[in-house]
Amino acid sequence: MQQGDNMKRIKSVFSFLFLSFIFIFVTAAIFGAADHEHKYTELYTVKPVCTEKGYTVFSCVCGDSYEGNLTDELGHDFSSEVIYYKKATCLEKGEAGRYCKRCYAKSDITYYDKTPHKPVEVMVKATSKKDGEARKECSVCKKLYSRETISKIASVKLESKTYTYDGKVKTPSVAVKDSKGNKLKNKRDYTVKYQKGRKKTGTYSVKITFKGNYEGEKTLYFKIRPVVVRNLSATPSISSVYLSWDKSKGADGYEIYLKTDKLKLVKDTDKLYYRVNKINGKKLKSGTDYTFLVKSYKKAGDKKLYSASKKIKVTTKPQKCRIKKVSTSSGGITVSAVKQNCHGYEFLLSTNKSFSNPVSVRLKGKSKRSYTFKNTIKGKTYYVKVRAYITSGGESYKGYYSEIKKIKG
Ligand SMILES: [Zn+2]
Ligand SMILES: [Zn+2]
Ligand SMILES: [Zn+2]
Repeated sequence: MQQGDNMKRIKSVFSFLFLSFIFIFVTAAIFGAADHEHKYTELYTVKPVCTEKGYTVFSCVCGDSYEGNLTDELGHDFSSEVIYYKKATCLEKGEAGRYCKRCYAKSDITYYDKTPHKPVEVMVKATSKKDGEARKECSVCKKLYSRETISKIASVKLESKTYTYDGKVKTPSVAVKDSKGNKLKNKRDYTVKYQKGRKKTGTYSVKITFKGNYEGEKTLYFKIRPVVVRNLSATPSISSVYLSWDKSKGADGYEIYLKTDKLKLVKDTDKLYYRVNKINGKKLKSGTDYTFLVKSYKKAGDKKLYSASKKIKVTTKPQKCRIKKVSTSSGGITVSAVKQNCHGYEFLLSTNKSFSNPVSVRLKGKSKRSYTFKNTIKGKTYYVKVRAYITSGGESYKGYYSEIKKIKG
């Protein structure tokens, strides 16, 4: 057998040599080189392994070579005991057998069936930032049996963020909704912890801690404001307004604002009244509408906790009226007043200077500045005077009378 192999190798070497001879002959013929006799030397030796023979390579300087000195394959070396074992899983069969000590080739393999999947429930809790999910999957290969999304927490709100002090404890309920608009359930999905007290004016916390299918926490705040200022009243003068109000229990002070298109703080006081004389350094205008707001407040550290604001509208009193013109005609005596800010004018006519039993006419609207007293007697002496008025807070406030004018009918 070994001899036969050697013969084959030698044959192939011979055929190679034959071709080489032709090549060398041709080369020698062309270049006139001398004939060559091979001289083989050992180049290297390959040792035999489990399944392959060993051999030595001999070569000549001309490049020709052959493999000789073949040695037998070693054959595997299996130990007698089982030296490897791989557990079966749901993905792969199990296996046990022996290894060759040299090349780790396997022998005497026993296979074990795949094991069943191991389904487990996996819960990824939802937060206010991310959806969660409840899924059933094989714990080994992650094969999915079912999956249910738990929508993230979208809103956490208090029933009310603002209360007014009334001596009762405030406990606003909490409403939590997920991103689909479903309501979460107290105690099952979250717990609520209220700050202690919650009766006096102040700011209180409500801490919501999520549980069950949800996790995370959120703290909300609500206020108990001081009571609204009561019995706010405004008494107008020509160029100022006197404001007064009742004491609000527990309030540390009051702020007065002028309301135009925005609010302007006029005064911060701990008294129960204030006369508004000037706004932006200027006196108030006569016969003009002003709206003031008054808020009570309770100091809370360096901040103030305000009551809701109480609004009052007021019109300053008109100025002393002046007569523009008095004239007599066939229609009677006509009196006109100088224009000013007011809600209307009163025209008085009398036959005596002391204005006992006068004829008095009130015209509504500041544009109606002229009035004609009809049926006056020609040649008779009359006295006239005028004043402007405003209506504020349901009351009428009159300005000073003009000078008295004497005229013949
Ligand atoms: Zn050679
Ligand atoms: Zn081996
Ligand atoms: Zn599996």
